[in-house]
Amino acid sequence: MTATLIDGKAFAATLRGRVAEEVAALKAAHGIVPGLAVVLVGEDPASQVYVAHKHTATVEVGMASFEHKLPADTSEADLFALIDRLNADPAVHGILCQFPVPDHLDERRTVARIAPEKDVDGLSVTNAGLLATGDKALVSCTPLGCLMLLRDRFDSLSGLEAVVIGRSNLFGKPMAQLLLGENCTVTIAHSRTKNLSEVCRRADILIAAVGRAELVQGDWVKPGATVIDVGITRVPHPEKPGKTRLIGDVAFDSVAAVAGAITPVPGGVGPMTIACLLANTLTACCRVNGLPEPEGLTV
Ligand code: NAP
Repeated sequence: MTATLIDGKAFAATLRGRVAEEVAALKAAHGIVPGLAVVLVGEDPASQVYVAHKHTATVEVGMASFEHKLPADTSEADLFALIDRLNADPAVHGILCQFPVPDHLDERRTVARIAPEKDVDGLSVTNAGLLATGDKALVSCTPLGCLMLLRDRFDSLSGLEAVVIGRSNLFGKPMAQLLLGENCTVTIAHSRTKNLSEVCRRADILIAAVGRAELVQGDWVKPGATVIDVGITRVPHPEKPGKTRLIGDVAFDSVAAVAGAITPVPGGVGPMTIACLLANTLTACCRVNGLPEPEGLTV
């Protein structure tokens, strides 16, 4: 391996520590405790694990955590009534509805119900629009985390060729907007892109968010490029029967032999997502209280 390993786990731990310091300072100076409300509808096992992690991380940085677990047959009217209460609650600065929701509920309508200033997942049309127009948005957590890792590696991203594989509202589109904001020349690739390997080879920064294990091979990568692997695929563990392991969108060994830097899976982008959720909650709290935002926690 020749590439430098980008240690997202360590970076995320530092970021969480920074958030904890800012939360303590906010409490001491203003008596304000940032609060994050997480809504889970149903009993999806993976979602339960994610929600538990978010609760622990929120409490660890000194914020208030409000968990709302609703039965799988909760009506839209009841879900929206809860969101309306959270929108009006001054102790709640961030609201997140854990997706996927059961089939009878609509994710877009649910996101639209959350007040934009509390939409710490950055998924609302308002926040997507603010990001696109270069105004102050709450930015989707995973792309925000990727940008922080890139800013840490480069003095300036200006003029670099960036290729993002994947065009979802959750990741690909906001990631491209963030890179554009840094003056990168941005290409968004997707399932209909022709000659994908050729497109990827021109990237100084290559970001893969597809969900197809080891799609990106070593010969897709420009020598020295920085490669960010967002994708997660869970596969049976080869040595531990009954267990699973996570694989990224990037064929790690072959790409690490060519790239200048690379994020691993696990331990790369994943830990940044929760750290950025906490950062966004703090940012939302400062904004709603008219207080200065701590530097470096958002764009
Ligand atoms: P998504 O909504 O399913 O989007 C996947 C994108 O990949 C789509 O734009 C799709 O193109 C594109 N695609 C599919 N097959 C392709 C191919 N063969 N070549 C090129 N592009 C292809 O997924 P997502 O929500 O953006 O998430 C992407 C991955 O990132 C998933 O594995 C997810 O688990 C992971 N993720 C990780 C984190 C984290 O915290 N680490 C956070 C978010 C997401 P079309 O639009 O043309 O269909």
